[in-house]
Amino acid sequence: MSVIVGIDLGTTNSEIAVIRDGKPEIIPVEGEPIMPSCVGIDPGGNILVGRTAKNQMVAAPEATILSIKRKMGENTRISLADRSFSPEEISAMILTKLKSVAETHLGEAVTEAVITVPAYFDDAQRKATRSAGELAGLKVRRIINEPTAAALAYDHDLGTDQTVLVYDLGGGTFDASLVVVQNGVVEVKASHGNTHLGGDDFDRLLMDYADDLFFEQQGVRLKTDLKAANRLWAAVEKAKRELSDAPYARIREEFILSDLHLDLEIARTDYEEMIRPLLEKTMDSVHRCFKDAAILPGAVDKVILVGGSSRTPLVSELVGNAIRTETHQEIDPDLIVAMGAAIQAGVINGQKTHSILVDITPYTFGTRAVGMLDGQMREDIFVPLIRRGTALPAKKGEAFATMFDGQKAVDVRIFQGEAPLAEDNIFIGNFLVEGLSDCPAGNEIVLTLALDLNGLLQVTAVEKRTGLSKTVTMETDNGKAPLDLNAARENLSAALGHAPATTADASQTTDAKQALINAAKDLRKRAGVLLDSIDPTDAQELRSLLADSQKAVSNGDADRLAQLNESLSDMLFYLED
Ligand code: AMP
Repeated sequence: MSVIVGIDLGTTNSEIAVIRDGKPEIIPVEGEPIMPSCVGIDPGGNILVGRTAKNQMVAAPEATILSIKRKMGENTRISLADRSFSPEEISAMILTKLKSVAETHLGEAVTEAVITVPAYFDDAQRKATRSAGELAGLKVRRIINEPTAAALAYDHDLGTDQTVLVYDLGGGTFDASLVVVQNGVVEVKASHGNTHLGGDDFDRLLMDYADDLFFEQQGVRLKTDLKAANRLWAAVEKAKRELSDAPYARIREEFILSDLHLDLEIARTDYEEMIRPLLEKTMDSVHRCFKDAAILPGAVDKVILVGGSSRTPLVSELVGNAIRTETHQEIDPDLIVAMGAAIQAGVINGQKTHSILVDITPYTFGTRAVGMLDGQMREDIFVPLIRRGTALPAKKGEAFATMFDGQKAVDVRIFQGEAPLAEDNIFIGNFLVEGLSDCPAGNEIVLTLALDLNGLLQVTAVEKRTGLSKTVTMETDNGKAPLDLNAARENLSAALGHAPATTADASQTTDAKQALINAAKDLRKRAGVLLDSIDPTDAQELRSLLADSQKAVSNGDADRLAQLNESLSDMLFYLED
């Protein structure tokens, strides 16, 4: 049985994958999982494809072409140095390189492929893609839609009826698609987007920002010098990626223009304000998609984020707020479409395929801070940093500010859970950062959480203005912390007045702890209603139990909480009568 490869022939980057031992595997190109969809001709007349072509992009723009996908299906010629090519021929060069890399990697000839295209591609564009494959010596067994490939990667046989929103934000294009799976039939019900919107636009905004700042300081523009502009582009793109995981990014380029240096810092909040209008435009496409498909957002079972730029945290925030369904990006958003294509190839080849397994955190980790909840300012808001479903290992940072003038210390408290109030979640640990500078309120503290595959959580707090830092490693619950489950269940059933549902997987312990916390919250609420109407002695006793219950939650003391829940439950039984 000869191999069939899956290829994501993208506007900015392309990837190739194959099924091995039932699982999709990305084949690296020159050590990288993704290859720039770039073709060029070097001064010696040799064809360059991928990274080497991209490297000469700024120096030799007339001999280099990127984003040929935008021209597929057009009857046009592209000039490259002193030669000219059709869009199919250029795409064939990209496919030829991927094919040859796969042959070396697999040690066998590769002659068949499944290639993905955007759902909005018309017949001419699909035919052109097929022709490009054939020019590259590949029999194109099937052309599939990119959103369908993404859905396949999450659910390899699409055996369950479902409605999936695929939000795909790449380097140069954006599209949103609604994929409906019913009785094994997969249909892209609607697709909308913008073929000129993506991460490259974010780079341009950052370049303008840095260029303006440099001009203010030095009186010269970086963008007018080709070499400096190229370095600036690479630097802002790197900073942009860093801002997906950290609250600040520093851009430092020495001797960027003769003897001048560029040195600036950008805050994620400022960057988000720059790109917000563009992301809002993507949300307009999402809404049009719903309208066209006559589907309500509430009917969506799953939201899948695709494309490198969908790693921008503001994307999941905006999409999550609009759809109110968890967004999935556990599978690498750069590679997911190629993996889905490989799964389709495997199905055509009669190979058994499995779902893609990724290590993810089943719980959200965050800290406690002052913030608004239901229009009320509170001191105990839970601020998530690493969200449930994030692929591991994960590292995420956020900036916080001190509350008081001259504040010398902060108590960093870490919780695990999904509740909006910190203390309704599981307490993981805390530490004090002392010796902060004597300055007005608003002193920034950058908190970074790094979670590894073993559930070890490294928490670092840094005073931004001085670099004073403290790092503590905490063991997260991960379903392994000791707790007497039977005792917890008994206690719970007393508190709830009925037997709690039994849990059956490895997260039992955590679920039981969370259930204890929920039960305590419930009991405190019931007690709160009674406080003003009962005998003062009873009220005093009840208040003391409530304070102890709150303390046990704060300290993460599950055993004590179990006892207190029981006492509270007994007392309420008698008081509510
Ligand atoms: P794609 O076309 O899907 O390969 O996406 C490429 C785009 O994703 C480029 O604009 C990258 O700069 C951008 N990108 C890659 N990684 C990240 C990241 N971690 N955060 C934000 N943008 C990213």
